[in-house]
Amino acid sequence: MSRAAVTVAYGDGIGPEIMGATLEMLAAAGADLDLETIEIGRSVYLRGNSSGIEPGAWESLRRTKVFLKAPITTPQGGGYKSLNVTVRKALGLYANIRPCVSYVPFVESKQPGLDVVIVRENEEDLYGGIEHRQSVDSFQCLKIMTRPGTERIIRYAFEYARSYKRKKVTCFTKDNIMKLTDGMFHKVFEEIGAEYPEIEQEHWIVDIGAAKLADTPQAFDVVVVPNLYGDILSDVVAQIAGSVGLAGSSNIGARYAMFEAIHGSAPRRAGQNVANPSGLLLAAVQMLLHLGQREVAERVHNAWLRTIEEGIHTYDIFREGNSRRKVGTKEFGQAVIANLGKIPGTLQPARYGLDRPNPRSDFPYHRPDEVKALVGVDIFVEFTRSVEELASALRVTAERGALALESIANRGMSVWPFGLGETLLAGPFQCRFFARNRSAGLPHRAIVDLLGSVEAAGIEFTKTELLYTFNGAEGFSRSQGA
Ligand code: NAD
Repeated sequence: MSRAAVTVAYGDGIGPEIMGATLEMLAAAGADLDLETIEIGRSVYLRGNSSGIEPGAWESLRRTKVFLKAPITTPQGGGYKSLNVTVRKALGLYANIRPCVSYVPFVESKQPGLDVVIVRENEEDLYGGIEHRQSVDSFQCLKIMTRPGTERIIRYAFEYARSYKRKKVTCFTKDNIMKLTDGMFHKVFEEIGAEYPEIEQEHWIVDIGAAKLADTPQAFDVVVVPNLYGDILSDVVAQIAGSVGLAGSSNIGARYAMFEAIHGSAPRRAGQNVANPSGLLLAAVQMLLHLGQREVAERVHNAWLRTIEEGIHTYDIFREGNSRRKVGTKEFGQAVIANLGKIPGTLQPARYGLDRPNPRSDFPYHRPDEVKALVGVDIFVEFTRSVEELASALRVTAERGALALESIANRGMSVWPFGLGETLLAGPFQCRFFARNRSAGLPHRAIVDLLGSVEAAGIEFTKTELLYTFNGAEGFSRSQGA
């Protein structure tokens, strides 16, 4: 075991107290860490740095590649950017891992036996934050999912399951509606799943899957999800475990990793020695595993489980009858230290398999060899008169070009040539043009010419999306009712 360099940030609010207690528990357990402290959060924001982190701090992160982070307070208003999102994106932390466990009967939970790990994709999906206001009355947010981004999160979920001897990986998507984006996620899950035949695997549509997860979490083990579903589901699962204050998380990339509690800086509890350091400690346990200090991870985790079992609880999980002694942050840390070397009597002890390798996180990507062909264009236009007027104006406009008007939709619903008068018309119309002769191949110039004619006809276009096929399969959705 070699001394591991770790960048530490004490954060804001309860951050310094829970970090202090956590580092004491780690040191007493024998963690071999070389700590570098950086400043992040409120004080940095208020010095006028809108990212909440100083340039010098990045140098420490680049050097250590491992970040143990306490929660920070994001000041309200003022254009401050989320530090978490900045760090995640800058360091390429594509996987967010959140183990959720219930500790019944020692900590109240409606779900005894809950033991689920949520593996959430951390960079793509609607979190690209690519939004546009297209017209007075319409707004859009682009959901972008890539094949390399999806492959690596799915592969990481299977590697995680293999490394931690988990039996099943479940994937949630909404691919009955989003057939291209979520459809690709589901397809990649099946493709990569085939390489892990020893692991049980299943897919659920996210709505009913989430209901089942809240109702019968015992039916799940590792759950891999796109970003937004994962954001929501991981809080739901942590909450029904009965212990949002107890959960830690890791953010893993190919070269960097960040570990933190899932809760915030709880400013109202700051400076009173009452906060529960468990979320940060369990995040630190994941960090020790990442660093290969598995024996220390196991020792401190078992001492923590034993302390929870003994009913030595901070105020947030203290319940008369259930708990034995209400303690502060420091005293809780000392109780864990006193229990080092012991294992829990009722709860499942932590067993990390001391010679087991960590899950891999750096995977090569091989771009599929597909033939891409341009076949048409969707032109989005603002138009306040009738759909029939728009259709006839566009047909005249396109008359002599290489593209012909095929359909018009509004908010994804077909309104021409098929449509019902009841459909709400709001925001731009999506006017779909296909090449008159698909087999001849469509040059980009034809699209530019068509846009020129639309502009010359006085019709205002707001955006375009090119329509491609890949090995002959359509790379675009069809509107409802078309
Ligand atoms: P919060 O999680 O900080 O606190 C909500 C409540 O939960 C607290 O009032 C407290 O009663 C309880 N609580 C949370 N952690 C606890 C602990 N360790 N021990 C005991 N009780 C605990 O959420 P919030 O009040 O919505 O946010 C406060 C600040 O934290 C905001 O500025 C927010 O932006 C920030 N935040 C930061 C992170 C992060 O740095 N990762 C995450 C979430 C929120």
